[in-house]
This record gives sequence, C-alpha cells and structure tokens, in this order.
Amino acid sequence: MSEQSVNQSISSAYSQILDVIGGVEPRIAAATRQELEDQRGSLKLIASENYASPAVLLTMGTWFSDKYAEGTVGHRFYAGCQNVDTVESVAAEHARELFGAPYAYVQPHSGIDANLVAFWSILAHHVEGPWLQKFGAKNVNELSEEDWETLRTELGHQRLLGMSLDAGGHLTHGFRPNISGKMFHQNQYGTDPETGLLDYDAVRAKAREFQPLVLVAGYSAYPRRVNFAKMREIADEVGATLMVDMAHFAGLVAGRVFTGDEDPVPHAHIVTTTTHKSLRGPRGGMVLAQEEFAPDVDRGCPMVLGGPLSHMMAAKAVALAEARTQEFRDYAQRIADNAQSLADGFLKRGATLVTGGTDNHLVLLDVSSFGLTGRQAETALLDAGVVTNRNSVPADPNGAWYTSGIRFGTPALTTRGFGAEEFDRTAELVVEVLSNTQPGTTKAGEVSKASYVLGDGVADRVRSASAEMLDKHPLYPGLDLA
Ligand code: PLP
Repeated sequence: MSEQSVNQSISSAYSQILDVIGGVEPRIAAATRQELEDQRGSLKLIASENYASPAVLLTMGTWFSDKYAEGTVGHRFYAGCQNVDTVESVAAEHARELFGAPYAYVQPHSGIDANLVAFWSILAHHVEGPWLQKFGAKNVNELSEEDWETLRTELGHQRLLGMSLDAGGHLTHGFRPNISGKMFHQNQYGTDPETGLLDYDAVRAKAREFQPLVLVAGYSAYPRRVNFAKMREIADEVGATLMVDMAHFAGLVAGRVFTGDEDPVPHAHIVTTTTHKSLRGPRGGMVLAQEEFAPDVDRGCPMVLGGPLSHMMAAKAVALAEARTQEFRDYAQRIADNAQSLADGFLKRGATLVTGGTDNHLVLLDVSSFGLTGRQAETALLDAGVVTNRNSVPADPNGAWYTSGIRFGTPALTTRGFGAEEFDRTAELVVEVLSNTQPGTTKAGEVSKASYVLGDGVADRVRSASAEMLDKHPLYPGLDLA
C-alpha cells in the first residue's frame, strides 16, 4: 500500500469512528477532534509524553478490550483466552528480545502499577519465601493466624532507599506520602549540592548505614545518565535488591543510546518501565526481571493488579515491534542529540540548568533566575502554546507545588521531526516568554507565587513562530478529519 493510500484509509477510518462515537456522545467526539488540533498546534515539551504511531493507536481500540484474562499465558482464571495468550506472548517475547531480559511481564496498566508489582515481588521473594520455610509451610494458605501475624510484621519492616523527589526521583521511589514510603521504612539519596550530579560515594555511604532490602535507581527529572553497574555494586555490597525504574529512558535503552553500564537491564535484579514515554508505545507498564523473580512477578495479577488489559498488551506488542527497528534507534539518538541542542540553546542565552546541562532526553531549567516560580513559568509558557510541566529543583525553596523548575523533554517533538536547529529556536522562544513575564501580586499586595503578567504581544509572537516550525513537521501527516 502506498503512503498516500494508507493516509487516506486512516483518515476515513478515524472520521467514521468519530461519527460513530458522536452518534452516542457528541461531546466526546468533539473533544477527541479538538485534542488532535491542540496537540498539532502546540510545542509539546513534556518529558514524559510522546506521539504513538497510528498502528499503536489503532491497536488500542479493539474488542480485546472486552475480554477478561486474569492469570498468565496458559494459566488463566477465565475460559476462552487463546487469543489473549497470543497477544501476551508476542508482547513479552518482543520485550525480552529488545531489552535482552531473561523475563518480561507486560500486564501492568501503568508505571506505578509496574513498581507495585516489583515491590511485592521483591518482598515475596526475599521475605515471604524464607519465612514460609521457617513456618514449614509450602504457601500462604498453610499459615496459622499466629504465622500471619509474624509474616505481616516481617513484611512491614523492610527498608527501601531511593532517589529523593527534589533530586529527580519519582513519588513511588519511597516518597513518604506515597504508598512506597508507607509500606517500607524509607530513606532517600540526593545529588551533590554543588554539581547537582549523583554522588555514588554518598549513595554507598547511605546504603551502608541504612541497609535497605531494596535500592531503587531511576528518575523522572534527573537530566543525566546513571551508572547502573555502580548502583549494582552498591546493592551487592549491602545485600540489597537493585530495582531500576527506567520509565523515562526506556526508549534510549531500546534504541541503544544507553549501553554498557548505562543499560540497567544486565545490572538490575528487576527493571520497571512505562511504555508510553520515550518508548513511544501505548500508555502502560512492564516489568523485566532476572529469572529468580519471575514466579513472584507473574503473580502481579491479581496480587496487586486488576485484570490484564488485553487491547493494551496488543498495542505494547506493536510498539515493541516498532522499537526493534533501525529507524527507532536513529530516533532514540536524535532524542539525545536534540536535548543537547535544547540545553545549549538555554545556556547560550544565559539560563541556568540543573547539573549545567543534559546527557539524556530531558532538561531541567531553574526559572528562579527569571524571578519566577515554576508555576508562573509553566502557565505563561502555556499561554504561548508551549506545553511543559513545573518541577522541583534540588533543595527547592518553593516546594513541590509552586517549584522553581520547568522540565523539558525532547521525545515528542523529535517524533514530529524537529531537529537541532528547531530545538535551539525552541529554547529562544522559551527564553523570550520567561524574560517577558513578571510575577503578579496577591490581594494583600505581596509578590505572588502563582499569578503573573505576560508582556503584550509575546504569546502571539511565540505562537506564530512555533507555528512555522510545527507546520513543517505535521503531527500524523495525512490524517485529515474531514
Ligand atoms: N516511574 C517514573 C520514573 C515516572 O516518571 C513515572 C511517571 O511519570 C511513573 C513511574 C509512573 O508512570 P504512570 O503514570 O504510567 O503510572
């Protein structure tokens, strides 16, 4: 099929689909159309977002959604799962091969769910297993009430060490208010106060002192690569399980930009990920594990997950098939090159970046030098059609709500075809907005952390400059919703 006829088919398929939806609930059809317009017309710089291919999008909308399939391949609690078995096996096979992982579990509905599966698997493997042996029980069904009490106490007293939120870690890496900070005794490592970089000696010292069962590596907002071989060395030294959450950079691992010590898969006991960020698949999660954890990971559903979403596993399989290609590897390299160009664009215009730059897919801009909070900067940028999210910087004086940072990521616009020059121009436009934004005042006449005043004409100027670039790189080219 020629590209033109593929585009025609997709356009007519989506137009008809939206007509069907509109016949039932017109507001949803209208919002779906509008979302495409909005995404097409803005600079999407949210580091955790991307644009999945039409093949991935179409795979999500099928009757696989109607099938219940609790359990695992060949071992289901429902009848009639033969096609779901195919879907799950193909997705897992692609995941194992793409990442070189001994075992892959593709059921998690999201990254947070994948982390929960990993936590419970580690607890079951290291705590439940040995205690069952001590009780002389084969499984939990054989435990007495007294045994249960002991097991609950043992499970509830384990320690987890992860990267702090303000250093770039995720909520689920032991942040106190999150369930991970409640189900474990938690402790956090940060980054060097001078350089903003991970200090492996400091992580080692903290691990020696804290003696965690789980050492979590990985991040949401740390703009640098991590040496996972070193993290494994630290974990081994204190007898911890190394869990790496590669939700953000899975695409860079799949695309062989992160190799050797920067590839978590050969070093970690368990790796979790999302499938929708730099990996460019459907929304969802996965767990990759060494064989010893496989039986416990396999119990993810119904232990902590609801029934598998078969349509999403099918879409994961399609996205993973795409990620095996040379085209995807080139894409992954461009993500990193473009982040470099964006960072250089900020630095040459005098902006301050956490860690002074980037070597992954994201850039963290400290907006305090513009006299703004992250919240003010985020909304002013949005007014100008630049979609980002505010983020804490290390030791953030404005806390996690207002923040002092804006996080930028290159995966989405790289998918649209943006190159180095366009990312440099993007940095220029961002600086133009922020330099022309002033903090507003509160009703009491004090400097506000939320309201702001954006200079006259700036938003329009930036929108039309962005439109020039966006028009050159249309989103879903050929998709025309007549
Ligand atoms: N892990 C990391 C490192 C993340 O950055 C995120 C999301 O931002 C998640 C997990 C959670 O992913 P999800 O939103 O799919 O649950």
